[in-house]
Amino acid sequence: MGYAVAVDGPAGAGKSTIAKLVAKNMDLTYIDTGAMYRGIGIFIRDAGVDPDDEEAVSKAVSGITMDIRYQDGVQHVFVDGRDVTERLREEETGRLASRVSRYPAVRSRLVALQRQMAESGNVIMDGRDIGTVVLPGAQLKIYLTASVQTRARRRWKELLEKGEPADIAEIQADIEKRDNQDMHREVSPLKKADDAVVLDTSDMTIEQVVNRIEGLARIRRKNPKVVLAQTAGFCFGVQRAVKTVYDETKGSGPLYTYGEIIHNESVVDDLQKHGVTVLDTPDDVRKAEKGTVVIRSHGVSKDVYDDLQNAGFRIVDATCPFVLKIHQIAREVTSGDGELVIVGDRTHPEVEGICGWCRKPATVIDTKEEADSLIFPENTDVTIVSQTTFNLQKFEEIVEIIRAKGYNTNVCNTICSATEERQTEARRIAATVDAMIVIGGKKSSNTRKLYEICKRECPETYLIQTFADLNLISLAKADSIGITAGASTPNTIIEEVLHNV
Ligand code: C5P
Repeated sequence: MGYAVAVDGPAGAGKSTIAKLVAKNMDLTYIDTGAMYRGIGIFIRDAGVDPDDEEAVSKAVSGITMDIRYQDGVQHVFVDGRDVTERLREEETGRLASRVSRYPAVRSRLVALQRQMAESGNVIMDGRDIGTVVLPGAQLKIYLTASVQTRARRRWKELLEKGEPADIAEIQADIEKRDNQDMHREVSPLKKADDAVVLDTSDMTIEQVVNRIEGLARIRRKNPKVVLAQTAGFCFGVQRAVKTVYDETKGSGPLYTYGEIIHNESVVDDLQKHGVTVLDTPDDVRKAEKGTVVIRSHGVSKDVYDDLQNAGFRIVDATCPFVLKIHQIAREVTSGDGELVIVGDRTHPEVEGICGWCRKPATVIDTKEEADSLIFPENTDVTIVSQTTFNLQKFEEIVEIIRAKGYNTNVCNTICSATEERQTEARRIAATVDAMIVIGGKKSSNTRKLYEICKRECPETYLIQTFADLNLISLAKADSIGITAGASTPNTIIEEVLHNV
């Protein structure tokens, strides 16, 4: 077998339109296996054979010849030497194809022919059983689907454009019937191959679908070296916080998190399905029915903590121990004469929380420029802490700038070890690959830092939330790909990217 892409899916999912375009872009031979079953349907009708009589159909097809030829790149189907291409797309032909395709005698003949065709070149083949039966060794398997309403609407528009107006409800009923027949027949029913990539095209344009499939096909053809960072994904603090909330969902009474438990939409959505509500503001706290509030790993300010307690909520504190340590330092330092400098993003909830434990205002800086313009009286005791997920290299550079100013500096590197290791590994991988993928939520600060670090080493760095965001066509140029992920990225998302790439 040469290089093969298998595309399966229900009627009207857009398989042939998409496969044809991918074939053209990648110089593959497009094989429409549905057309072969349709060819048999035409033959049966012309021969006056009852499509429900398995014996008669099997006998009739045992002697026929079926030939597939390409004329100007278009697949023509010849049954017993007759070109039936013109009649293939008729509605009645589709119905008949579905009825006769359940017979083993029909299938075994066509499957043998399809395999033969795949042996002689590089192909993209579409149908119902390509990934599962015809070409189980295909380098890429796609299961293309769309809601039945969408598929019916597409077919209806297609007919309208051809000047053959039709009833959309009838089309939908017809599609449902064919789906049912194809999915529930005994031999080679339509089903997703275990290793197929599922694409629901309901809300996608043709161009978007082609891009996804072509990108994947190009990546699989290139077969790049893929390195997954061992430190990718949930850190201990996040893991603990998420587990805490899931454990609490087993209890009774209203359950809340103060802010989103982690910066990841899929986790937050799932928790919402488990009845967890996010409280974002003091106003939300006031209005909410009393219950349990889980404080996330970022931590909160003392005021928020006190407000929740005074309002009568039960507090389950999942603040990361590394963050709690910074709260402690912040409280101690700001109780004395010295100054506290927090290196981090002042709008990030972790930094807001730290500031909220200070007895007097701390100075928050995020850039070397801000460090440059920092001024305290001579001989001030300056304690420097950092947001747990800050970029280590940048933190060290900022510390050097402040140190050079001659204060009595006390540096507390409070970047957590997991962050440090993750950044070091990401930098090392990014320096050796053609393309680097960083996976994490839009609001995730540590993910953004990882992205910055990787981008410096590898210009072709992609920041994505899920696999769907990945520009596959451009990624397909890489011979080696590295993958890392922020501390709040669930394993399922990392695995999806890894598996598909
Ligand atoms: O994809 P298309 O609509 O042209 O297929 C017509 C019918 O042929 C399908 O409804 C299905 O019953 C049958 N078919 C099949 N296996 C394939 C391709 C098509 O059973 N590989």
